Amino acid sequence: MLIVMQHGATAQEIQRVVATIEEMGYQARPMPGKQRTAVGLVGNDGKVDASRLEALPGVLEIIHVSQPYKQVSREWKTENTVVHLPGGVAIGGEDIVVVAGPCSVESEQQIVAAARAVRDAGAVALRGGAFKPRTSPYSFQGLGKRGLEFLARAREETGLAVVTEAMDPEGMDLVAQYADVIQIGARNMQNYSLLKRAGRVGKPVLLKRGISATITELLLSAEYILAEGNAQVILCERGIRGFDTATRFVFDLTAIPLVQKLSHLPILADPSHATGLRAKVTPMARAAVAAGADGLLIEVHPQPDRALSDGAQSLAPDQFVDLMRQCRAIAEVIGRRVAEPAQV
Ligand code: PEP
Ligand code: MN
Repeated sequence: MLIVMQHGATAQEIQRVVATIEEMGYQARPMPGKQRTAVGLVGNDGKVDASRLEALPGVLEIIHVSQPYKQVSREWKTENTVVHLPGGVAIGGEDIVVVAGPCSVESEQQIVAAARAVRDAGAVALRGGAFKPRTSPYSFQGLGKRGLEFLARAREETGLAVVTEAMDPEGMDLVAQYADVIQIGARNMQNYSLLKRAGRVGKPVLLKRGISATITELLLSAEYILAEGNAQVILCERGIRGFDTATRFVFDLTAIPLVQKLSHLPILADPSHATGLRAKVTPMARAAVAAGADGLLIEVHPQPDRALSDGAQSLAPDQFVDLMRQCRAIAEVIGRRVAEPAQV
Protein backbone atom coordinates (compact mmCIF):
# COMPACT_ATOMS: atom_id res chain seq x y z
CA MET A 1 0.00 0.00 0.00
CA LEU A 2 1.16 3.51 -0.80
CA ILE A 3 0.17 6.59 1.13
CA VAL A 4 0.54 9.53 -1.23
CA MET A 5 1.06 12.83 0.58
CA GLN A 6 -0.28 16.16 -0.62
CA HIS A 7 2.12 18.47 -2.44
CA GLY A 8 3.61 20.57 0.35
CA ALA A 9 2.90 18.10 3.17
CA THR A 10 5.10 18.96 6.15
CA ALA A 11 7.84 16.77 7.61
CA GLN A 12 5.70 16.36 10.75
CA GLU A 13 2.75 15.12 8.70
CA ILE A 14 4.98 12.59 6.92
CA GLN A 15 6.45 11.52 10.26
CA ARG A 16 2.96 11.00 11.68
CA VAL A 17 2.10 8.68 8.77
CA VAL A 18 5.34 6.73 9.38
CA ALA A 19 4.59 6.44 13.11
CA THR A 20 1.02 5.27 12.46
CA ILE A 21 2.20 2.60 10.02
CA GLU A 22 4.66 1.35 12.64
CA GLU A 23 1.98 1.36 15.33
CA MET A 24 -0.13 -0.79 13.01
CA GLY A 25 2.73 -3.33 13.03
CA TYR A 26 4.13 -2.69 9.54
CA GLN A 27 7.24 -0.99 8.17
CA ALA A 28 7.19 2.43 6.52
CA ARG A 29 9.34 3.38 3.52
CA PRO A 30 9.16 7.15 2.84
CA MET A 31 9.86 7.90 -0.83
CA PRO A 32 10.44 11.59 -1.51
CA GLY A 33 9.57 12.47 -5.11
CA LYS A 34 9.95 15.52 -7.31
CA GLN A 35 6.28 16.45 -7.01
CA ARG A 36 5.30 14.88 -3.71
CA THR A 37 6.29 12.31 -1.14
CA ALA A 38 4.72 8.89 -0.86
CA VAL A 39 5.11 6.55 2.09
CA GLY A 40 5.16 2.85 1.27
CA LEU A 41 3.69 0.38 3.73
CA VAL A 42 5.41 -3.00 3.67
CA GLY A 43 5.14 -6.20 5.63
CA ASN A 44 1.52 -7.03 4.79
CA ASP A 45 0.44 -10.24 3.12
CA GLY A 46 -3.06 -9.11 2.22
CA LYS A 47 -5.16 -5.97 2.09
CA VAL A 48 -4.56 -3.52 4.94
CA ASP A 49 -7.38 -1.48 6.50
CA ALA A 50 -6.38 2.07 5.59
CA SER A 51 -8.99 3.95 7.62
CA ARG A 52 -6.50 5.18 10.25
CA LEU A 53 -4.17 6.52 7.57
CA GLU A 54 -6.75 8.11 5.26
CA ALA A 55 -7.81 10.55 7.93
CA LEU A 56 -4.33 11.84 8.81
CA PRO A 57 -3.45 15.44 7.90
CA GLY A 58 -1.46 15.85 4.68
CA VAL A 59 -2.62 12.54 3.15
CA LEU A 60 -3.84 12.91 -0.44
CA GLU A 61 -4.74 9.35 -1.36
CA ILE A 62 -4.16 5.69 -0.59
CA ILE A 63 -3.16 3.33 -3.38
CA HIS A 64 -3.60 -0.39 -2.80
CA VAL A 65 -1.01 -2.34 -4.83
CA SER A 66 -2.96 -5.08 -6.57
CA GLN A 67 0.01 -7.33 -7.46
CA PRO A 68 1.41 -9.89 -5.00
CA TYR A 69 4.83 -8.26 -5.43
CA LYS A 70 4.72 -4.75 -4.06
CA GLN A 71 7.95 -2.73 -4.17
CA VAL A 72 8.88 -4.28 -7.50
CA SER A 73 5.63 -3.17 -9.15
CA ARG A 74 4.98 -0.16 -11.36
CA GLU A 75 2.08 0.72 -9.08
CA TRP A 76 4.61 1.26 -6.29
CA LYS A 77 7.06 3.24 -8.42
CA THR A 78 6.14 4.60 -11.81
CA GLU A 79 9.59 5.76 -13.03
CA ASN A 80 12.10 3.21 -14.29
CA THR A 81 14.79 2.16 -11.84
CA VAL A 82 18.26 2.93 -13.14
CA VAL A 83 21.06 0.85 -11.62
CA HIS A 84 24.41 2.66 -11.63
CA LEU A 85 27.69 0.75 -11.79
CA PRO A 86 31.20 2.07 -11.16
CA GLY A 87 32.66 3.69 -14.27
CA GLY A 88 29.43 5.46 -15.17
CA VAL A 89 27.43 2.51 -16.54
CA ALA A 90 23.66 2.98 -16.11
CA ILE A 91 21.35 -0.02 -16.54
CA GLY A 92 17.69 0.79 -17.12
CA GLY A 93 18.22 4.23 -18.62
CA GLU A 94 17.97 5.30 -22.24
CA ASP A 95 20.98 3.32 -23.40
CA ILE A 96 21.11 -0.43 -24.02
CA VAL A 97 23.99 -2.01 -22.12
CA VAL A 98 25.90 -5.06 -23.21
CA VAL A 99 27.48 -7.33 -20.59
CA ALA A 100 29.75 -9.95 -22.14
CA GLY A 101 32.43 -12.47 -21.33
CA PRO A 102 32.96 -16.19 -20.93
CA CYS A 103 30.67 -18.54 -19.08
CA SER A 104 33.46 -19.35 -16.60
CA VAL A 105 36.70 -17.75 -15.55
CA GLU A 106 39.32 -20.33 -16.57
CA SER A 107 42.66 -18.55 -16.14
CA GLU A 108 44.02 -15.03 -15.76
CA GLN A 109 45.12 -15.00 -19.36
CA GLN A 110 41.70 -16.19 -20.62
CA ILE A 111 39.63 -13.67 -18.66
CA VAL A 112 41.91 -10.72 -19.42
CA ALA A 113 41.87 -11.60 -23.14
CA ALA A 114 38.07 -11.93 -23.04
CA ALA A 115 37.71 -8.62 -21.19
CA ARG A 116 39.88 -6.78 -23.71
CA ALA A 117 38.00 -8.30 -26.64
CA VAL A 118 34.53 -7.48 -25.34
CA ARG A 119 35.54 -3.99 -24.24
CA ASP A 120 37.06 -3.25 -27.65
CA ALA A 121 33.82 -4.40 -29.26
CA GLY A 122 31.73 -2.11 -27.02
CA ALA A 123 30.62 -4.10 -23.96
CA VAL A 124 30.38 -2.01 -20.79
CA ALA A 125 30.65 -4.83 -18.25
CA LEU A 126 32.42 -8.16 -18.05
CA ARG A 127 30.63 -11.38 -17.11
CA GLY A 128 32.31 -14.61 -15.96
CA GLY A 129 31.56 -17.15 -13.27
CA ALA A 130 34.07 -18.13 -10.59
CA PHE A 131 31.47 -20.29 -8.83
CA LYS A 132 29.53 -22.29 -11.40
CA PRO A 133 26.21 -24.07 -10.87
CA ARG A 134 26.64 -27.12 -13.11
CA THR A 135 24.08 -29.81 -13.84
CA SER A 136 26.70 -32.53 -13.31
CA PRO A 137 28.94 -32.63 -10.23
CA TYR A 138 31.74 -33.90 -12.50
CA SER A 139 31.69 -30.81 -14.77
CA PHE A 140 34.09 -27.90 -14.21
CA GLN A 141 32.88 -26.12 -11.07
CA GLY A 142 34.81 -22.86 -11.46
CA LEU A 143 38.04 -21.55 -9.97
CA GLY A 144 36.40 -20.10 -6.84
CA LYS A 145 38.35 -17.34 -5.08
CA ARG A 146 41.18 -17.49 -7.61
CA GLY A 147 38.62 -16.83 -10.34
CA LEU A 148 37.43 -13.75 -8.47
CA GLU A 149 41.01 -12.48 -8.25
CA PHE A 150 41.43 -12.94 -12.00
CA LEU A 151 38.20 -11.00 -12.58
CA ALA A 152 39.60 -8.16 -10.48
CA ARG A 153 42.75 -8.22 -12.67
CA ALA A 154 40.59 -8.02 -15.79
CA ARG A 155 38.72 -5.04 -14.32
CA GLU A 156 42.03 -3.28 -13.59
CA GLU A 157 43.17 -3.91 -17.15
CA THR A 158 40.01 -2.78 -18.90
CA GLY A 159 37.96 -0.63 -16.52
CA LEU A 160 34.95 -2.89 -17.10
CA ALA A 161 32.53 -3.51 -14.24
CA VAL A 162 32.43 -7.17 -13.18
CA VAL A 163 29.28 -9.33 -13.04
CA THR A 164 29.76 -12.69 -11.34
CA GLU A 165 27.64 -15.30 -9.61
CA ALA A 166 27.19 -16.07 -5.90
CA MET A 167 25.85 -19.57 -5.42
CA ASP A 168 25.10 -19.67 -1.71
CA PRO A 169 24.54 -17.29 1.21
CA GLU A 170 27.86 -18.34 2.83
CA GLY A 171 29.79 -17.35 -0.30
CA MET A 172 28.04 -14.01 -0.79
CA ASP A 173 30.49 -11.83 1.16
CA LEU A 174 33.50 -13.18 -0.69
CA VAL A 175 31.87 -12.63 -4.10
CA ALA A 176 30.75 -9.15 -3.05
CA GLN A 177 34.36 -8.18 -2.26
CA TYR A 178 35.19 -8.59 -5.95
CA ALA A 179 31.96 -8.14 -7.91
CA ASP A 180 30.32 -4.93 -9.07
CA VAL A 181 27.10 -6.87 -9.70
CA ILE A 182 26.18 -10.13 -7.98
CA GLN A 183 24.53 -12.61 -10.33
CA ILE A 184 21.91 -15.00 -8.99
CA GLY A 185 21.59 -17.83 -11.48
CA ALA A 186 18.46 -19.42 -12.89
CA ARG A 187 18.83 -22.48 -10.66
CA ASN A 188 18.90 -20.27 -7.59
CA MET A 189 16.05 -17.92 -8.45
CA GLN A 190 13.95 -19.41 -5.68
CA ASN A 191 16.74 -19.92 -3.16
CA TYR A 192 15.12 -17.66 -0.60
CA SER A 193 17.98 -17.53 1.88
CA LEU A 194 20.29 -16.47 -0.97
CA LEU A 195 17.79 -13.82 -2.10
CA LYS A 196 17.51 -12.43 1.43
CA ARG A 197 21.28 -12.34 1.72
CA ALA A 198 21.46 -10.51 -1.64
CA GLY A 199 19.05 -7.97 -0.21
CA ARG A 200 21.64 -7.02 2.40
CA VAL A 201 24.78 -7.20 0.29
CA GLY A 202 24.95 -3.51 -0.66
CA LYS A 203 25.70 -4.20 -4.35
CA PRO A 204 23.47 -4.42 -7.42
CA VAL A 205 22.02 -7.88 -8.09
CA LEU A 206 21.37 -9.51 -11.47
CA LEU A 207 18.51 -11.96 -10.98
CA LYS A 208 18.05 -14.54 -13.74
CA ARG A 209 14.66 -16.10 -14.40
CA GLY A 210 14.37 -19.71 -13.25
CA ILE A 211 14.04 -22.29 -16.00
CA SER A 212 10.43 -23.05 -15.09
CA ALA A 213 9.53 -19.84 -13.30
CA THR A 214 6.51 -17.74 -14.19
CA ILE A 215 6.92 -14.00 -14.51
CA THR A 216 5.03 -13.54 -11.25
CA GLU A 217 7.50 -15.89 -9.54
CA LEU A 218 10.44 -13.95 -11.01
CA LEU A 219 9.03 -10.68 -9.71
CA LEU A 220 8.27 -12.19 -6.30
CA SER A 221 11.88 -13.38 -6.08
CA ALA A 222 13.01 -9.83 -6.86
CA GLU A 223 10.64 -8.65 -4.13
CA TYR A 224 12.64 -10.69 -1.60
CA ILE A 225 15.72 -8.60 -2.44
CA LEU A 226 13.88 -5.28 -2.31
CA ALA A 227 12.11 -6.28 0.90
CA GLU A 228 15.54 -6.55 2.57
CA GLY A 229 16.38 -3.00 1.49
CA ASN A 230 18.27 -3.47 -1.80
CA ALA A 231 16.46 -1.75 -4.68
CA GLN A 232 19.34 -2.19 -7.14
CA VAL A 233 17.98 -5.23 -8.94
CA ILE A 234 18.36 -6.06 -12.62
CA LEU A 235 16.22 -8.87 -14.02
CA CYS A 236 17.27 -11.22 -16.81
CA GLU A 237 15.27 -13.34 -19.25
CA ARG A 238 17.45 -16.36 -20.12
CA GLY A 239 14.96 -18.81 -21.61
CA ILE A 240 12.57 -21.27 -20.05
CA ARG A 241 12.19 -25.02 -20.42
CA GLY A 242 9.99 -26.15 -23.29
CA PHE A 243 9.30 -29.53 -24.88
CA ASP A 244 11.47 -28.99 -27.94
CA THR A 245 15.12 -29.98 -27.66
CA ALA A 246 16.14 -28.20 -30.88
CA THR A 247 17.27 -25.26 -28.75
CA ARG A 248 18.59 -25.44 -25.19
CA PHE A 249 15.69 -23.37 -23.80
CA VAL A 250 12.80 -21.35 -25.23
CA PHE A 251 13.63 -17.66 -25.39
CA ASP A 252 10.58 -15.95 -23.94
CA LEU A 253 10.95 -12.51 -25.46
CA THR A 254 7.39 -11.56 -24.59
CA ALA A 255 8.66 -11.43 -21.03
CA ILE A 256 10.59 -8.25 -21.87
CA PRO A 257 7.68 -5.89 -22.59
CA LEU A 258 5.53 -7.72 -20.04
CA VAL A 259 8.00 -7.23 -17.20
CA GLN A 260 8.53 -3.62 -18.24
CA LYS A 261 4.81 -3.00 -17.88
CA LEU A 262 4.53 -4.77 -14.53
CA SER A 263 7.77 -3.55 -12.94
CA HIS A 264 10.06 -0.54 -12.86
CA LEU A 265 13.17 -2.76 -12.69
CA PRO A 266 15.47 -3.04 -15.71
CA ILE A 267 15.52 -6.32 -17.65
CA LEU A 268 18.36 -7.81 -19.69
CA ALA A 269 18.07 -10.61 -22.23
CA ASP A 270 20.46 -13.55 -22.46
CA PRO A 271 20.27 -15.17 -25.90
CA SER A 272 23.34 -17.33 -25.16
CA HIS A 273 21.73 -19.55 -22.54
CA ALA A 274 18.28 -19.21 -24.13
CA THR A 275 19.33 -20.75 -27.43
CA GLY A 276 22.43 -22.75 -26.48
CA LEU A 277 23.53 -22.41 -30.10
CA ARG A 278 26.28 -20.04 -31.22
CA ALA A 279 24.71 -19.43 -34.63
CA LYS A 280 21.41 -18.38 -33.05
CA VAL A 281 22.82 -15.92 -30.51
CA THR A 282 23.17 -12.91 -32.83
CA PRO A 283 19.73 -13.16 -34.47
CA MET A 284 18.11 -13.50 -31.06
CA ALA A 285 20.19 -10.65 -29.63
CA ARG A 286 18.78 -8.50 -32.43
CA ALA A 287 15.29 -9.66 -31.54
CA ALA A 288 15.84 -8.89 -27.85
CA VAL A 289 16.96 -5.34 -28.63
CA ALA A 290 13.93 -4.93 -30.89
CA ALA A 291 11.68 -6.20 -28.09
CA GLY A 292 12.97 -3.40 -25.87
CA ALA A 293 15.45 -5.16 -23.55
CA ASP A 294 17.50 -2.78 -21.42
CA GLY A 295 20.58 -4.75 -22.27
CA LEU A 296 22.12 -8.05 -23.29
CA LEU A 297 24.13 -10.73 -21.51
CA ILE A 298 26.32 -12.50 -24.05
CA GLU A 299 28.83 -15.32 -23.65
CA VAL A 300 32.07 -14.59 -25.49
CA HIS A 301 35.23 -16.70 -25.23
CA PRO A 302 38.64 -15.98 -26.79
CA GLN A 303 38.66 -19.61 -28.02
CA PRO A 304 35.12 -21.01 -27.77
CA ASP A 305 36.22 -24.49 -28.87
CA ARG A 306 38.40 -24.71 -25.77
CA ALA A 307 35.83 -23.36 -23.29
CA LEU A 308 35.44 -25.38 -20.10
CA SER A 309 31.71 -24.57 -20.00
CA ASP A 310 29.06 -23.46 -22.51
CA GLY A 311 31.47 -23.39 -25.46
CA ALA A 312 28.73 -24.34 -27.93
CA GLN A 313 26.86 -21.12 -27.23
CA SER A 314 29.89 -18.83 -26.81
CA LEU A 315 30.78 -16.38 -29.55
CA ALA A 316 34.32 -15.84 -30.76
CA PRO A 317 35.47 -12.20 -30.45
CA ASP A 318 34.96 -11.43 -34.16
CA GLN A 319 31.41 -12.80 -34.02
CA PHE A 320 30.75 -10.57 -31.02
CA VAL A 321 31.98 -7.52 -32.96
CA ASP A 322 29.39 -8.36 -35.58
CA LEU A 323 26.64 -8.83 -32.97
CA MET A 324 27.40 -5.38 -31.57
CA ARG A 325 27.28 -3.80 -35.01
CA GLN A 326 23.90 -5.36 -35.75
CA CYS A 327 22.47 -4.48 -32.35
CA ARG A 328 23.52 -0.84 -32.73
CA ALA A 329 21.59 -0.73 -36.00
CA ILE A 330 18.46 -2.24 -34.43
CA ALA A 331 18.73 0.13 -31.44
CA GLU A 332 18.68 3.08 -33.79
CA VAL A 333 15.48 1.88 -35.43
CA ILE A 334 13.69 1.91 -32.06
CA GLY A 335 15.15 5.28 -31.06
CA ARG A 336 17.73 3.95 -28.61
CA ARG A 337 21.49 3.64 -28.50
CA VAL A 338 23.93 0.96 -27.38
CA ALA A 339 26.05 2.36 -24.52
CA GLU A 340 29.77 2.78 -25.25
CA PRO A 341 32.46 1.81 -22.73
CA ALA A 342 34.26 4.66 -20.97
CA GLN A 343 37.73 5.45 -22.31
CA VAL A 344 40.48 4.26 -19.95
C1 PEP B 1 25.56 -18.27 -16.61
O1 PEP B 1 25.21 -17.07 -16.73
O2 PEP B 1 26.65 -18.73 -17.01
C2 PEP B 1 24.57 -19.22 -16.05
C3 PEP B 1 24.96 -20.30 -15.40
O3 PEP B 1 23.31 -18.84 -16.34
P1 PEP B 1 21.89 -19.46 -15.90
O4 PEP B 1 21.87 -19.35 -14.40
O5 PEP B 1 20.91 -18.56 -16.58
O6 PEP B 1 21.84 -20.87 -16.40
MN1 MN C 1 27.00 -20.19 -19.06
